[in-house]
Amino acid sequence: MTAETICVGTELLLGNIVNTNAVYLAKEYAKYGISSYSQTVVGDNAERIKTAVKDALGRADVVVVSGGLGPTQDDITKECVASIFDLPLKLDSASMTKIEAFFKKRGKAMSENNKRQAMIPEGAKILENGNGLAPGVIIELDKDLKPSDKDVSKCVILLPGPPEELRNVWENGAAPYLKARSGNVIESVMVKICGRAESEVAAILDDLIDSKGPVTVAPYAGTAEVHLRVTAGGEDEKAARKLIKPVVKEIKARLGDSVYTTGDKSLEAAVVELLLANSLTVTTVESCTGGLLAGRIINVPGVSEIYKAGYITYSNKAKRKLAGVSRKSLDKYGAVSSQVASEMAKGATTLYKADVAVAVSGNAGPEPSEGKPVGLVYIAVNVAGKVSVKEFNFSGDRAKIRDLSVSNALIMMRQCILEYYGRMTFGSADEK
Ligand code: ATP
Ligand code: MG
Repeated sequence: MTAETICVGTELLLGNIVNTNAVYLAKEYAKYGISSYSQTVVGDNAERIKTAVKDALGRADVVVVSGGLGPTQDDITKECVASIFDLPLKLDSASMTKIEAFFKKRGKAMSENNKRQAMIPEGAKILENGNGLAPGVIIELDKDLKPSDKDVSKCVILLPGPPEELRNVWENGAAPYLKARSGNVIESVMVKICGRAESEVAAILDDLIDSKGPVTVAPYAGTAEVHLRVTAGGEDEKAARKLIKPVVKEIKARLGDSVYTTGDKSLEAAVVELLLANSLTVTTVESCTGGLLAGRIINVPGVSEIYKAGYITYSNKAKRKLAGVSRKSLDKYGAVSSQVASEMAKGATTLYKADVAVAVSGNAGPEPSEGKPVGLVYIAVNVAGKVSVKEFNFSGDRAKIRDLSVSNALIMMRQCILEYYGRMTFGSADEK
């Protein structure tokens, strides 16, 4: 099955909003094993919307259109698509009742325009919108692109533009519909890898990535991470999972501890899980990352059991007063040095009695400082008194360097804890 996304909205063309709906849908297609070769962005213009939909129907089995289902005059998607197939718009009473109830509850007058949201192309399937008033719509087509619910060959799916509404209608309506239509169950597992470059992962797994077999392995590079989506189809979920299992096992065998999850969790969640499993308290001492590392760790629910305090020691004075760094090291080596990063990590565990301390000191730019180049970052991890320190030379702007520093601090924490306390077995709830 192939799908194409058309995002409608002049504000997308002007760069006023970021096209997150296209990103979301692209990931969803991959999850369901749907191939997608093109995406289109088109302004709120009737002729151009119609042309985009007709062109896409010439190529793909499923055309998903996002946006323009609202009540205002520039929301014309439904009218445009219905007119391609000469379908009149008919009032859907269930949608209308919902809209009326919405306004009644809020004690507001409903405008005539809101009625437009309940107007549905004749014969179309209606997808309920759990987060808004405009329902989604599916127009089924036969092989001659005539509306028909018999021998359905292609379809156009209209989804509301606001991202939380689009997700709701996709998840509860469009995705189950496509899953049922494909007749083939597609399952996938995300294998997340840290501490290895995408090129290295690709070289180790080249035969699996290039395989023409029933299981596809697709790599995606993230910040200091590589994610692999392992996908297979089968007559039911069990059959598809049976195909995926040995491939995931093989990936784990080749990449070892670099695989931090085969579930949905984030890197920080994997690190927190490791700390919790070993009952280790943790503290952070940050200079150039200014609390970003603490923020990522504290994002994980349940972290309060092991994270008590963290420190931003931005100035040299703060490094001395709050993390016990010696004036001698600061004078001799400078704040951005392996010596100072190690002392920050050592001082933190002594002062705050944490089992694990992570320290970051670097120059995030934009100018060299104290003779240290932009991107030079030292990360030190202290696990039960054993301090490991690493030098990094990141490139990118200030935000990128800080982001890379945080991700690498998490990766180093994980590696140091695994080395010290032994490898944690896989098997938490979300592992596949
Ligand atoms: P509404 O009832 O809000 O008018 P709609 O279905 O008519 O919904 P649009 O008018 O196209 O949708 O967009 C409404 C809002 O949804 C936009 O202002 C924008 O904030 C968001 N939005 C629309 N399309 C996208 C997109 N492709 N990616 C991210 N956000 C989007
Ligand atoms: Mg709108």
